Amino acid sequence: MADIIQLLPDHVANQIAAGEVVQRPASVVKELLENAIDAKATSITLVIKDAGKTLVQVTDNGSGMSVTDARLSFERHATSKIKSAEDLFNLHTKGFRGEALASIAAIAHVELKTKTENSEIGTHLTIEGSKVISQDPAVVPKGTTISVKNLFYNIPARRNFLKSNPVETRHIIDEFHRVALAHPSVAFQMLHNGSDVFNLPSSNSRQRIVNIFGSKTNEKLVPVSEETEILKIEGFVLKPEFGKKSRGEQFFFVNDRFIKSPYLHHAVASAFEGLVKSDIHPGYFLFLEVDTHSIDINIHPTKTEIKFDDEHSIYAMLRATVKHSLGQFNIAPVLDFERDKGFDTPYEYSKKQPTSPSIEVDSDFNPFKEKSKQGNINFPFKRENTTSWESLYVGLKDENTVVSNIGDIEFESEEVTGSLFESNDVETGQVTFQLQNKYIISPLKNGMMIIHQNLAHQRILYEELLKNITVKEAVSQQLLFPLRLHFSKPDVEIIEKIREQLENTGFVFSELKDETIEISGIPVLILESHVVNLLSQLVHDIKEEVPDSGFSQNDMLAKSMAAGMAIRTGVSLNKEEREHLINQLFACKEPSVSPNNKLVFTTMDSIDLDKKFM
Ligand code: ADP
Ligand code: MG
Repeated sequence: MADIIQLLPDHVANQIAAGEVVQRPASVVKELLENAIDAKATSITLVIKDAGKTLVQVTDNGSGMSVTDARLSFERHATSKIKSAEDLFNLHTKGFRGEALASIAAIAHVELKTKTENSEIGTHLTIEGSKVISQDPAVVPKGTTISVKNLFYNIPARRNFLKSNPVETRHIIDEFHRVALAHPSVAFQMLHNGSDVFNLPSSNSRQRIVNIFGSKTNEKLVPVSEETEILKIEGFVLKPEFGKKSRGEQFFFVNDRFIKSPYLHHAVASAFEGLVKSDIHPGYFLFLEVDTHSIDINIHPTKTEIKFDDEHSIYAMLRATVKHSLGQFNIAPVLDFERDKGFDTPYEYSKKQPTSPSIEVDSDFNPFKEKSKQGNINFPFKRENTTSWESLYVGLKDENTVVSNIGDIEFESEEVTGSLFESNDVETGQVTFQLQNKYIISPLKNGMMIIHQNLAHQRILYEELLKNITVKEAVSQQLLFPLRLHFSKPDVEIIEKIREQLENTGFVFSELKDETIEISGIPVLILESHVVNLLSQLVHDIKEEVPDSGFSQNDMLAKSMAAGMAIRTGVSLNKEEREHLINQLFACKEPSVSPNNKLVFTTMDSIDLDKKFM
């Protein structure tokens, strides 16, 4: 049989390669912008026409190319960025494959104008379908302009495959965002069909984000910053309440390169656990820096995937760092160096001078006490002995204020100015019911809301505790007789480790050594009889917790304590208690989910109800 294998002509090989590199106009945008960055440009202009289908043009003021380089740049595997295979593991440039220009030139009409700093005169080159049509000297400024016209003119199938202009424009803008976000010090401009789309001056990272996504973004950003031997993390996450149902602003950059990583995304998403509902996607702009030797970017032609040597550590660190930032934000919504923190301290604490609490301990008072049997159905909700639920919180208020009724209770969160009953269209009159000593039912204008009392209380306590642990503002109640508890030595050591956080919540330890713990003060939120259980549970949870890093410990502590302290299922609540719980719940930052991400309440509207009777 005759030999049948032949080498493909270059232009065919280029066309095939182009299929990998160039899927749509946005791919061209990405490659050209990255080349401009690699050429050390400080100002880059992107011009597109008809969503890039007619024209994609990038002009930069970077290094430019010599006459020979201009010609060579369109050869396949022609690159100035690596010389040997080892260089692949020490990449500091966006490009390195030397494929982009060759691929683009195979499937479009390309025009290049370029000049280096030192040459008097530049060069002007035109190429169509990999064939050089002309190369002439030209008077052009330093830098490079590449115009890519009529993309896929010679591959009608690909051209027909392109989506509508709005869709293709969206893709282009996405690529533009990615490069612009990664390089805030470079000025960028983008024009579409002659009009300005973006004009981004050289700036810092925060300003770049705000310039792209609008001035309202500024107050949504929570700074993230951490540096360890293997990883540096900088950037921002969006406050939990600005998470979106659809994938919103989610950006990872590794060594200034935008990457997609479901794995790292998971790390960030899990740091938001308990703060957003499971169908909400948190937003982030995270810039990771790692040693170039510890990653492999060569696994995908468009270079948006990346392989880390030490994926697990990076995952753990990323998660812990984001959690830490969110924890800080929980106590002061914006811990931002460009703003005075004093303005942001929420809650009444900002103006409060430390005062010693005036607490009269009612040793009989037990808000958790199970009510004597009243039958299963709680009508008509009367209770003789109305213990004051609010007295739990005495000491958090000013000395002389006595919280006598629900209306007097001030919310501690700045967002909440009224009660649930205004904001959620609940009928006035505030009727609430308890079902099975487990759920609180509250009628809404259009139906009803069903709240899980235990999970609701966990959420309330969790936010309160997390705040206390970090801001050290909690008040403690002095015990008449110190509580002496015995734990194993390792357990006492664990408690010693979290002593500071516990003290921040209101614990006062008068002794903590060997196998003994002596406690002379406890948080006002908690009952003396609960202390042993709570501490045991805490120690247990700490032992169980996957070794993460110190950061998430506060969060874990708050979760564990909240779970231990929250009113249980089976406890009957009187009217005031129910309403207080509801009001407190809706003063929370994230009332809808428990610290462990369970649904706290659900609503049923009258349409749902009506359906039942059809
Ligand atoms: P790669 O970026 O992988 O090296 P490209 O095909 O994108 O491959 O570019 C080939 C070469 O052309 C680059 O290595 C670079 O030397 C040169 N080049 C491309 N664009 C520019 C530009 N805007 N300014 C200066 N040189 C450029
Ligand atoms: Mg390139």
